[in-house]
Amino acid sequence: MSKNITTGNKMFYDATWYRLRQRIFKRDGYKCRVCGDGEGLTVHHITPRSEGGTDDPENLITLCDECHSRIHKIERAAKAISSRRYIEEYAL
Ligand SMILES: [Zn+2]
Ligand SMILES: [Zn+2]
Repeated sequence: MSKNITTGNKMFYDATWYRLRQRIFKRDGYKCRVCGDGEGLTVHHITPRSEGGTDDPENLITLCDECHSRIHKIERAAKAISSRRYIEEYAL
């Protein structure tokens, strides 16, 4: 997640984020939304914060580590060809 936050905000942020993650995991049934795996789960921002994405549950999705790193690779590739549509069609 974001690594350039100040120490003062970090604890608050971590606690909030932890609770939010639990909500998203629960909503998604503790399973990766791409492959259905229940191991190594993480919460991914569909629209990255760096692009104005929020922590709204609508913008968050449960993924396993494997699918998560794959999606970030695809995102980087998609950015290179600047097509959001590519992500929607091939990644999710
Ligand atoms: Zn997965
Ligand atoms: Zn992510």
